[in-house]
Amino acid sequence: MTGDVGTVYLVGSGPGDPELLTVKARRLLKEADLVMHDRLPGKDVIELVPAEARVDVGKRAHGDRTPQSEINRRLVERAREGKTVVRLKGGDPTVFARGGEEMTHLADHGISFEVVPGVTSATGGPAVAGIPLTHREFASSVTVVTGHEDPTKAESAVDWEALAATGGTIVVLMGVTRLPEYTQALIDAGMDPETPVALVERATWDGQQVATGTLETIVDARDSVGVEPPAVTVIGEVAGVREDVREWLEGYE
Ligand code: SAH
Repeated sequence: MTGDVGTVYLVGSGPGDPELLTVKARRLLKEADLVMHDRLPGKDVIELVPAEARVDVGKRAHGDRTPQSEINRRLVERAREGKTVVRLKGGDPTVFARGGEEMTHLADHGISFEVVPGVTSATGGPAVAGIPLTHREFASSVTVVTGHEDPTKAESAVDWEALAATGGTIVVLMGVTRLPEYTQALIDAGMDPETPVALVERATWDGQQVATGTLETIVDARDSVGVEPPAVTVIGEVAGVREDVREWLEGYE
């Protein structure tokens, strides 16, 4: 224990349905002195937090996000005031959520923290849409990447050519806008244009929708269904399982 200094909990909310919160996350949302969140956890989860404890760091007056440095600073400041602080993230706090930077910042400033994992949309989104990420017949590996970057720029952090060669499932987060660029990059790298692809939008929320197609047709499917962020893209034979099981799939659709 560190005297009067509070603890920071880096908590994952899961993809959106409050019933997919962990028991621990649910308790902390009710007990914390403050809960710093953005919009991704969704309103049903945020409404579990007492109004006076909510701090929205997703949007500021001029529509920009609170800078990460400011969030880091506030986490330390509130903990030093003796507060129990929850930093709430959609999905899992360590998957494309800057949880790593926050852990390092807290450690550098001598603040104790605990990570409370959540169901990441990378696995949970496809799962509720009837898409298993691995399958004995179709895929023995999964790679989760960001689709935020421009695949045509030379120094892109994601090596699409290498991904095309894995033969495993590719899951793309933040990948709605650049779908045309990275599907083309995969085809150019030699992937079969007929490879099944699915987009799962707003998984587990009201209004979940799914678009399916192939590397060649998914952009048109995205546009005709009207898929918008947040959505998960699944590329690989496993995306085809959905069609086989759909008639019996219960849950969110
Ligand atoms: N930490 C989060 C990811 C944050 S990055 C997690 O583990 O899920 C934001 C991206 O996550 C979105 O662009 C989208 O690709 C995905 N995402 C988060 N919640 C989602 C949901 N309910 N349905 C579909 N995609 C979601």
